[in-house]
Amino acid sequence: MSPSNRRGQRGSRGSSERARARRRIGAGGVLVLALAAGAAHAIWPFDRDRGDRDLAQTAASLLSEAIQLRTVNPPGDEARLARRLAEVLTDNGIESRLIPTPSVEGGPERAAVWGRLPGGDRPALLLLSHLDTVPADASEWSADPFGGEIRDGFVWGRGALDAKGVAVTHLLTLVELARSGQPLDRDVIFLATPDEETGGLDGAGFLAREQPRLFDGVGYLLTEGGGIQANAGTENERPEIWGITLTEKAPCWLELRARGRAGHSSSPTPDAAVPRLIAALDRIRRVESPIKVSDEVAEMFRRLAPIAPEWDREAFSDLAGALERDDAFRRRFLDNPGQNALVRNTVSITVLEGAPKTNVAPPIARAHLDARLLPGERCEDFARSIGKLIDEPEIEIEELLSFPARASSADSPLYRAIESVAARHSPEALVVPRMIGGFTDAHWFRELGIVSYGFVPRAVSATEASRVHGIDERVRIETLGRSIARMVEIARSLDVAERGF
Ligand SMILES: [Zn+2]
Repeated sequence: MSPSNRRGQRGSRGSSERARARRRIGAGGVLVLALAAGAAHAIWPFDRDRGDRDLAQTAASLLSEAIQLRTVNPPGDEARLARRLAEVLTDNGIESRLIPTPSVEGGPERAAVWGRLPGGDRPALLLLSHLDTVPADASEWSADPFGGEIRDGFVWGRGALDAKGVAVTHLLTLVELARSGQPLDRDVIFLATPDEETGGLDGAGFLAREQPRLFDGVGYLLTEGGGIQANAGTENERPEIWGITLTEKAPCWLELRARGRAGHSSSPTPDAAVPRLIAALDRIRRVESPIKVSDEVAEMFRRLAPIAPEWDREAFSDLAGALERDDAFRRRFLDNPGQNALVRNTVSITVLEGAPKTNVAPPIARAHLDARLLPGERCEDFARSIGKLIDEPEIEIEELLSFPARASSADSPLYRAIESVAARHSPEALVVPRMIGGFTDAHWFRELGIVSYGFVPRAVSATEASRVHGIDERVRIETLGRSIARMVEIARSLDVAERGF
């Protein structure tokens, strides 16, 4: 997942264009480099007798290695890890490619890694993850965040969950499918990209834009942003929730630039830039956007109703109606910031910049707004409404980043395949279509018309999930093993779901 405040430092569109012009493509140009099969360091060969426990251990040691190859973004430096994963694919007889991606002049090399397990002609299944991570402050951790320590049944370190653990799960899914010797009705494709944590423009965005042929024939995609929530529900009812993310709110990042009279601040004037900006921000922070319950969110809460607290069950089954009619419920629901964000556009004031010194009235003051829009809304309309609200000709508004929000339908063979795996393993489980407030790289592929879900079949508790981008991020070795086995099953069930028998 991406943090909510990323790319804040990248500034206006003008400066990001300049930055892009400075960037170069790695030594191989945009050419896709096929790696020769049979590289020297196989970490494990195919072994038909290998048990699930060994699979989990293999995943743990590969993840540990991946965590030790530091890929904090910026600057990313993902090429070494991409090369290592390509090598593991090749060692296991799977076609792989290292794909150079843009990097800053003089900065570290960046790359994506792609692998393909060939199958029949049905639309291919793409397993997407990312190689970069957010930073970690070692002084706050109880293990070295880049040590890849294996201790107490966990692999510890930055990226263990987000998303090196996902990349390892996907990679070993291809290895397991290859090992079984039973071909699928479709190709299964592995793709791990750089740059997700700062918006993906130089990672998944670059590939979708510059090398769309890579995705010819791809019909389905699974990535982060959803999964199995362990121990959900109230005390007496704790079934697993299999949350499949169909859509995400769309970022609409804006810069506000206030101009005003500059000079010595010993003689203040009412038309100075900073007070002008603050007056506008005060209006923005008070704004309450209208409540809108999309079909996806209505369905999500309807499915969650059986495990909601008893007093909320009826309201969850008809969210839009309850939010309109029931004042007490509406207050309770909207008091939860995560729930509030699912039913309205939100805006956070994040970056602020005024004078560099106490006694200077600067000519320009800036602020960044991180707005997140519901599907169907457009950033330019939102920016216009902000302009109207602040009603100040001396403040200009510029769009820094925005994508359209698109949804993938739940009516697909892939959704049914996940449902069937859930029913086999955990008959009590609730399978819930979701919208999330954050965003992942999935949107680049929804734009290409690929059915894209945020779903990793790993069971993680709320406490474990809270360590994503936080302190002591770690994943259970057992969880890694199980998620690979379930991913293999999903790929096989997709064939059954699509054939209809
Ligand atoms: Zn992530």
